[in-house]
Amino acid sequence: DKLPADPNTENSRRQVTTGYYSYVTPKKTANPQLIHTSDELLNDLGISPKEANAEDFLKVFTGNAVLAETKPYAMLYGGHQFGNWAGQLGDGRAINLFEIDHNEQHWALQLKGAGETPYSRSADGLAVLRSSIREYLMSEAMYHLGIPTTRALSLALTGDQVLRDVMYDGNPAYEKGAVVCRVAPSFLRFGNFQIFTARNDINGLQKLVDFTITNHFPELGEPSKETYLAFFKNVTRQTLETIIHWQRVGFVHGVMNTDNMSILGLTIDYGPYGWLEGFEWGWTPNTTDRQHKRYRFGNQPNIGLWNLYQLANALYPLVEEADGFEEILDEYKTDYAEKSLQMMADKLGITNPEETDLKLIADLEDCLQLSETDMTIFFRKLADFKKDNSVAGYDLITETFYLPELTSEQEKQWNEWFASYARRLQQETNSDVQRKKAMNAINPKYVLRNYMAQLAIDKADAGDYSLVNTFYTMLKKPYDDQPEYEEWFVKRPDWARDKVGCSM
Ligand code: AMP
Ligand code: MG
Ligand code: MG
Repeated sequence: DKLPADPNTENSRRQVTTGYYSYVTPKKTANPQLIHTSDELLNDLGISPKEANAEDFLKVFTGNAVLAETKPYAMLYGGHQFGNWAGQLGDGRAINLFEIDHNEQHWALQLKGAGETPYSRSADGLAVLRSSIREYLMSEAMYHLGIPTTRALSLALTGDQVLRDVMYDGNPAYEKGAVVCRVAPSFLRFGNFQIFTARNDINGLQKLVDFTITNHFPELGEPSKETYLAFFKNVTRQTLETIIHWQRVGFVHGVMNTDNMSILGLTIDYGPYGWLEGFEWGWTPNTTDRQHKRYRFGNQPNIGLWNLYQLANALYPLVEEADGFEEILDEYKTDYAEKSLQMMADKLGITNPEETDLKLIADLEDCLQLSETDMTIFFRKLADFKKDNSVAGYDLITETFYLPELTSEQEKQWNEWFASYARRLQQETNSDVQRKKAMNAINPKYVLRNYMAQLAIDKADAGDYSLVNTFYTMLKKPYDDQPEYEEWFVKRPDWARDKVGCSM
């Protein structure tokens, strides 16, 4: 009882109205060359190092060969982009290859950048080395941070040149083409569900929801209206959980359109993402969102909820009763309040958060914005604070400021905050040593700052992949002190101040 495939099997760009996915053929490339593979993910998938070094692996994961008895396809989905319904979107530069079951886990594998599909709209379906390195390194880094995410198996050059508008200097130029193999239990997005309802195909919607429940939420049981609500509740909770993780580490996704929201709550579609360096609610890495800043750091939890409303609207025809959805959406707000308090308390090493800690946290957030305080370095330095206030807190953290000149008023504000933090810690039973250990286990030391990704990209463009290797290895242990990588536990250098990521 399958959903219909598009009867047309050409790769050409078009509106697809008679099916929900299209069989396509990955584009052959001029000179494929593997740059990196994830040893961890190879292992999870049951692919041996020998197999990964074979010619077949290179061919399959650059789109130059299709495994026997597999039929690559691109999915149709819709979505709300920047708040507006956008109609047909779909896998415009992703091609699904096949799925693997290994060690009781189910994985779908897809290529990103393997050429045009019916859903490519006005673009070419290709990816450049720059965006591919960003996705490859970041998705594996997120995994090691303990944040739900799609994974990346391989990074390869195609040997083709791809024309792009390079956003940071504005001139179109040829760049090296690349392909990443992405891996996840499922690549379904909110937009996959929305497109059915938008086309008033409720029968199709039900098939997709039943399929998703059976395969990814089997514990919810047989399909029924209650099951559909339970499904929505699960998606809501997982979405919130992931966004709280983003807030914890200072990750800003940059394009939280509903087509970029995974039904499993995974972080998906690494485009113009970025890391908070100076702590700032209003910051976004997305240069196309600089005016409204819809997807700014401080707005991510709200956008998660807005997107869940859109998903609720899409699922509504299966339940035809709004109360259940509204209850779950209201719960998101109360859960958010509770979980974000717990998360911030964890970052501060407070084991039993109370309502009154909200003020301590809000005051800290004010202080952090006085002089552009580097979020990552701040929380690592804070772990060296002593609850008897014997180590001047302010001295611990002055080197984390991007704007060094603080007024005496601002310095006083910091000192007052440290005094109340010390008082709060004195109510705790854990020792300074225990607190430091707990804080360092959730406040990462090493993150992929934008300028670091850029350094790796610039070298790779010149054929030197050493920094890709370095960062890949370093980011496997983001919470550990790694003396050999101390040079990367530093503030963003001045030259990188206004350089932000770009997605294409
Ligand atoms: P994004 O904003 O990156 O999530 O992309 C929105 C839509 O545009 C999705 O349907 C993508 O598949 C499509 N898209 C983005 N980049 C390309 C590209 N280079 N070629 C074809 N389609 C693309
Ligand atoms: Mg996308
Ligand atoms: Mg994208």
